[in-house]
Amino acid sequence: MAEWLTENQSDNLKLSAKIDKVLYSGASEFQKIEVVHSLEYGNMLSLDGVFQTSEREEFIYHEMMSHVPLFLHPNPKHVLIIGGGDGGVARECVRHECVETVTMIEIDGKVVELAKEYLPTIADAMIRKDPKLTVTIGDGIGYVAECENKFDVIIVDCSDPIGPGEGLFTEEFYANTYRALKEDGLFVQQTESPMMHQPLVEKVFGYVANHFPITRLYTAYIPIYPTGMHCFTMGSKKYDPLTWESNRKQTFATKYYNDDIQKAAFALPNFVKDYLIKK
Ligand code: SAM
Repeated sequence: MAEWLTENQSDNLKLSAKIDKVLYSGASEFQKIEVVHSLEYGNMLSLDGVFQTSEREEFIYHEMMSHVPLFLHPNPKHVLIIGGGDGGVARECVRHECVETVTMIEIDGKVVELAKEYLPTIADAMIRKDPKLTVTIGDGIGYVAECENKFDVIIVDCSDPIGPGEGLFTEEFYANTYRALKEDGLFVQQTESPMMHQPLVEKVFGYVANHFPITRLYTAYIPIYPTGMHCFTMGSKKYDPLTWESNRKQTFATKYYNDDIQKAAFALPNFVKDYLIKK
């Protein structure tokens, strides 16, 4: 008999997916992990009760996390992913011909293991051991603190600011991220819903703006995340997405991302503009 997997998105809102199979339910040393088969979205990953990704709509999030920063940078060679244990961002990053190395630091080896088993299309680059990709199980916060002038692009594909991801939303982390980037480097971090999580979005935007000369927010529509409207905060040392012109050809197919989206994603509704610090 079908059951429902529910995420309590706030005290007043729940999102439920009808499921016909629990593929894994357990806990790692860091978090509760569930992998289910849902009738609408295919296999889904939930961490600490929060939907992370699903087979059917994952391309939106993963393409927007990867291609927006990678095509803004004219020649990204070395990319760092913090978190991203399902492998979706890594899969997209290795597709860029100019990218030579993708270093992924994921704190929870169990997420990587389960993604390879139950989300093989997402975990593809990890499964086939793409030669550009190095996956290390460890804490991204400590890793970034020890890097200097090393990466062209850093992508923080983290979970919510509770549990192991908490330290990825602090001002100290953004100062360290700035130092870890090369002189024309840029970074992007998923920063929840601009509608439901305004205090977080404002706080992160302010922190990033304290360290980066260019701070921008962009959005995408992610069906399984709270409100469906998701945002990403970008800090850049040199390249401004608001004046972006296509600088190299896209040599692979995408399902969501294109040149128009690259520009349009940075157009913000007034309610978001109104609460962001103007930079
Ligand atoms: N797309 C998802 C979302 O926004 O709901 C997030 C993807 S999920 C793969 C995020 C990953 O970040 C989790 O696997 C989690 O274990 C990892 N993570 C959380 N804190 C971390 C940390 N301090 N260092 C490295 N990885 C971390």
